[in-house]
Amino acid sequence: MNTVACLVCGGPLTVRMARGRKSGKPFLMLVCSRDGRHFRGFVSDQRYVKQVLARVSGSEGRAQGSAASPGVGSRGG
Ligand SMILES: [Zn+2]
Repeated sequence: MNTVACLVCGGPLTVRMARGRKSGKPFLMLVCSRDGRHFRGFVSDQRYVKQVLARVSGSEGRAQGSAASPGVGSRGG
């Protein structure tokens, strides 16, 4: 899954799902994982939202810190 970096601190942006109060339609929220004030983005295009949700579905649940830590040793050869 592609990660978008915060424009300020370079940290990964977390994708969250939210729901419109009036419309009740789902939309995506991109939030800086380091400091939510840095970057916040909203995507309401339903086609785009559905595609993203289809990819991340299954991993829905409780957030447990960082799911993946990059560069923690690689095996194989
Ligand atoms: Zn940031």
